[in-house]
Amino acid sequence: MQFFHPVIAWCFGTAAALAAPVDQPARFIGKTGAVMVQETVAADTQGLQRWLAGFRTRAAAAGISDAVMDQALRGLSYDADVVRRDRNQSEFTKTIWDYLDTATSDARVENGKAALAKHRRVLQAIEDRYGVEKEIVAAIWGLESAYGTFRGSVPTIQSLATLAYDGRRAAFFEGELLAALKILQSGDTTAPRMQGSWAGAMGHTQFMPSSYLAYAVDFDGDGKRNIWEDDPTDALASTASYLAGFGWTKGALWGMEITLPQGFDYDQTSERVKKPVADWQAMGVRRVDGGDLPDHGTASVLLPGGARGAAFLIYSNFQVIERYNTADAYVIAVGHLADLLKGGPRIASDWPRDLRALTLDERLDLQTRLTRAGFDTKGVDGKMGPNTIAAVKAFQRASGLVPDGYPSLEILQKLP
Ligand code: CA
Repeated sequence: MQFFHPVIAWCFGTAAALAAPVDQPARFIGKTGAVMVQETVAADTQGLQRWLAGFRTRAAAAGISDAVMDQALRGLSYDADVVRRDRNQSEFTKTIWDYLDTATSDARVENGKAALAKHRRVLQAIEDRYGVEKEIVAAIWGLESAYGTFRGSVPTIQSLATLAYDGRRAAFFEGELLAALKILQSGDTTAPRMQGSWAGAMGHTQFMPSSYLAYAVDFDGDGKRNIWEDDPTDALASTASYLAGFGWTKGALWGMEITLPQGFDYDQTSERVKKPVADWQAMGVRRVDGGDLPDHGTASVLLPGGARGAAFLIYSNFQVIERYNTADAYVIAVGHLADLLKGGPRIASDWPRDLRALTLDERLDLQTRLTRAGFDTKGVDGKMGPNTIAAVKAFQRASGLVPDGYPSLEILQKLP
């Protein structure tokens, strides 16, 4: 999990929250607690107002008119719920198989087929214009908002102003707030209609404001780019425009399930290892149905659930979907859902369902212990990125375990 995900918020928990209510706030606050929370919010709202006074000067220098700022910023209050979610998000983790169960459920496939049928003409026109297959656009729509059902009703300006003032990632959110004001100044929508998820992602396919400015399009030709209302036309075209902008190759796969030959070297299973398809083929890698590997350029082998889970060959389109959200689970869910919408088969291999996801404390503990034992994770941040995976592999190899890099509870328990 990384910090910067250009379109949707940086956490695959966000997409998971849309798919299933895993990210719910505590429902009960004691009486004293409620009073304290109210007092804190009042103080923070005063702080937010002071911060906004300074921000207005910077926004004016960036060309935002007083009229737009008056309309959008006056009377904003501090949104404690947004800050709480921002601080808690890394707690919410799922295993990839739990995530895929929800993200590619039968219901989501059926609803996707219905959405494709209903919007077939416009999706085909979008595919023809931008060169992005309709099933990929539909899959992103399905994961981001359950095909428009959960677009979010949090006021975007209030969220972004709160997060910019709150300061944990102030520069990023101030940039997004400025981008949101530019959208309002363009006349595409109004502040009350500009709603979305808690971290500023908006509309059917959850665009962040800066991505909107760079990639959103007016596909229905009414003169406004509109990703917020019921009609998904502009939002779907904007998503295709975004993927095309990052180099989507029409007709190439995102990836596919594969089988690895006996004795396969697990050092080769990394997004960092790219080889021509012919090399993988020569090493004995095959499609899961036994067929030859299709050639869509250089490819990598990925084992997102470790050696006991499904293996995938991933192509350059995988990296294009990553521009939406870098979590492997998210990218595989988009690709797999699109394949299912085309009538393709489900993932054939089992997952190690006896394993559970590590909690944040356990992930921090894992990184601390690995580093202490001489397997440097290059930081202790709770994120299971390439450096941590490499450290897990090195520890596994030194301990005579299968070096698949999967950060399981077993690894944590074996570490001194
Ligand atoms: Ca339009």
